[in-house]
Amino acid sequence: MKVAIIGVGTAGVSVLRQLVKHPNFAELDVTIYDNEKNMGQGEPFQNDSDDLLINVPVDMLSLNIDNVHEFREWYETQNDFDYGRATYLPRFVFGHYMKGYLDHYIQLYDNIHVVRQEVTQLGVEVQDSTSCHPKITVCTDDIVNTYDYVFLTIGTMSYNDPYQLKGQRGYIDSPYPANRTLDQVVDTDKIAVIGTGLASLDVIRYVLNHHNKPLMLASRSGQLPSVRGDMTKVDLHYLTKAHFSKLKRKHMDSVPLETVIELFRKECDALEIPLEQLLQRKTGDVMQDLKYDMAHAKQLGRLQSVLMAVKDNMDWIWNSLTHADQQAYHERYHQYVKENSNPMPRDTAELILNALHNDMLEIRSGLSHVERTNGRYRLKFDDAGRQCMVDVVINATGPKTRLDQLDESDALLLDMANKQMIQAHPMGGIQIVPETNEVISPRYGTMTNIRAIGQITNGVNFQRNAVTMIVQQAVKTVGQLYQQLEKESEV
Ligand SMILES: Cc1cc2nc3c(=O)[nH]c(=O)nc-3n(C[C@H](O)[C@H](O)[C@H](O)COP(=O)(O)OP(=O)(O)OC[C@H]3O[C@@H](n4cnc5c(N)ncnc54)[C@H](O)[C@@H]3O)c2cc1C
Repeated sequence: MKVAIIGVGTAGVSVLRQLVKHPNFAELDVTIYDNEKNMGQGEPFQNDSDDLLINVPVDMLSLNIDNVHEFREWYETQNDFDYGRATYLPRFVFGHYMKGYLDHYIQLYDNIHVVRQEVTQLGVEVQDSTSCHPKITVCTDDIVNTYDYVFLTIGTMSYNDPYQLKGQRGYIDSPYPANRTLDQVVDTDKIAVIGTGLASLDVIRYVLNHHNKPLMLASRSGQLPSVRGDMTKVDLHYLTKAHFSKLKRKHMDSVPLETVIELFRKECDALEIPLEQLLQRKTGDVMQDLKYDMAHAKQLGRLQSVLMAVKDNMDWIWNSLTHADQQAYHERYHQYVKENSNPMPRDTAELILNALHNDMLEIRSGLSHVERTNGRYRLKFDDAGRQCMVDVVINATGPKTRLDQLDESDALLLDMANKQMIQAHPMGGIQIVPETNEVISPRYGTMTNIRAIGQITNGVNFQRNAVTMIVQQAVKTVGQLYQQLEKESEV
């Protein structure tokens, strides 16, 4: 069976790891595709400043589903990087751990072929009517190959450009690599970062350490993620598959959102989490909010832990909701979940508090528009007339999430949508079967031999694209590939 892995970051390397583990691996002929820079490391874990840290403690991050300490163990046995017994290592170190495995497999197995180029197009090869799986054609600028099975693991879509400023001088359209964001900046430049999610924290860490003028951070909400509390292992007792099966029988195969919320509240009550108090804690004053989080590490850690357990199970929870309820969740509840999951490390909170205290950082909410005028940038805010001028804007508003936002930077996906190989999910990303990651095409139906994993599936895999969840999906889909291989050899 000829297999292609398109995109070799976390998802691509995880798929390969699972493939090689199987006793029937020799029956496969695998080709992996990515550009030279990202091959084996992907975008988030590429070589960059060591100010950029993983957002989960080292002991909770691993590519090995059976050994959560594998990354820690790898770190302790290698000699290239030494950050002591840090809880949060720089992100590129994790990238080298992934790449280490990739290089090892490439050396060890001669049925793995490497193409250090991006894929420009995919196509479906028309077959005779007896064949159940059409072959998939994969093209780069130089080569064309045909495969029986394709893993589409291309990571995030390109970056949002909310104020159409891409290409303008002084506008840095993506915060990564962070260590290049100051390349065109001079010492006297006033810098604003737009967006206050996790990516903005990366930029803050980098810019505060490498630029001496006060930094402005601006977004609509002006709210930063919460600070990581004392996390514990949580087992869910109410949001369970068994409970959902019963509810689905009562509600024509879906579970009403309000019932899910009720069950979530029960989980929180059982853990003595003061839910209302924590959800209403934000005052809008970032300094006060960060200090509150740091002083309530136990309570907040329990809330973050229960949210993490929910995210681990999000595939069946999310896909039990109707689209109308998914939309309602977005409008009513997602803001709270977003604020309290993906927390920042405590030392990042300390760095921000320090910078606020020393007037090296200012955080503004109500951002409504950014425009270029006379070679500088004017940031406008909701309250009438409030505005300010800066020399450089770093865009940290996050990647696109919907197919209708794509532009030429997302050429492969655009081409696939154009050929009707993929279609948009109403909540973002592309349509796939939740249980199997099979791509659902409006033209070819369910494509059992194209499996998509990662951010491009964010409508179905809502909030399920961190490392651990990607690894879970790689384990599952590779298992299904080998089942198919077995069936085919029986036939
Ligand atoms: C900035 C950032 C930080 C994060 N930090 C963490 C963290 O600390 N912990 C955590 O659990 N999760 C983190 N995440 C979540 C993250 O989504 C996953 O950890 C993971 O890296 C995503 O893996 P992926 O394989 O989907 O994407 P990537 O790892 O980005 O891999 C996608 C690969 O596809 C390649 N590619 C794209 N287009 C093509 C093409 N046409 N042809 C061939 N190759 C192509 C890219 O070059 C890239 O190498 C972070 C995410 C971001 C954006």
